[in-house]
Amino acid sequence: MRTHNRREYLNVDRQIAVLEKAAGSGTVVACRYCGAATPVFGSIGVCHGCENVVSLSRDALAKRSSDIVAALDSINAQLASGMYDGATAAYDALYAKYADPALLYVEGLVCNMQSNHEVGLISYDREGFMEENTLHRDAAARHAARARLLFNKAISACNAVLSKESSPDVMFVAFLANIKLGNLRNAESLLGALTGSGSHYLSMYATMVLDSAAGRFDRVPADAERLMKPDAWSINAFFYMALALLKKGDAKGALKLVGALKKNVSSAAIDALAREAAGY
Ligand SMILES: [Zn+2]
Repeated sequence: MRTHNRREYLNVDRQIAVLEKAAGSGTVVACRYCGAATPVFGSIGVCHGCENVVSLSRDALAKRSSDIVAALDSINAQLASGMYDGATAAYDALYAKYADPALLYVEGLVCNMQSNHEVGLISYDREGFMEENTLHRDAAARHAARARLLFNKAISACNAVLSKESSPDVMFVAFLANIKLGNLRNAESLLGALTGSGSHYLSMYATMVLDSAAGRFDRVPADAERLMKPDAWSINAFFYMALALLKKGDAKGALKLVGALKKNVSSAAIDALAREAAGY
């Protein structure tokens, strides 16, 4: 008997066409938390580096907060040469000045990067140098613990703001920090609050992130496709789509899509996904 295999979402070639058309005709904005440049289509977007809400071009951001742009340029130069401690100290200084919870969250991401970096230094064929491996393993655990501390601190700082005002952007930071901590129940209740706040775009985005974090990869393609529309577009939707394709067993489709994504943006997460898809 012939089974009817109805396609639930656009095929990968169609998705790539949508990605290229939108990325090519949109604008590029700069993240005020990590400095990454992200193509957006419409008035709102999410940073491809740290997932915070982005809306200003680098020029507009520099005009409004030249100190932030300078600090982020210096942080990114330090990260490029593996100077993680300098970068986290710079985030501490920015937080002391601006008290923006999103800065704590992004500093947590940097600590996770530093932890991954230490894990990468562990060598399993370094006979006789096991002490060195122990040092890297301890450092990795220490940085991961500091990341968790910063995510918790970010959530407390968000709650302090939210007790006084209803801000979808702040709810979204608390949501992201909970996702990183694996607190999916808290993330789900923040998603409810986001939906209630009327921020349709952020609640659609958070739905995609939560379904992905919860391993609900059958739902992610439909979630991602809702963010491939001219009125609600995020370049990260293509990342989550590629991840879902990979988890659903379509490594070839995932690799093709992540290849198209890499032409527009780059990040450690995108590289890792490309490697994973290529390794299947
Ligand atoms: Zn960012």
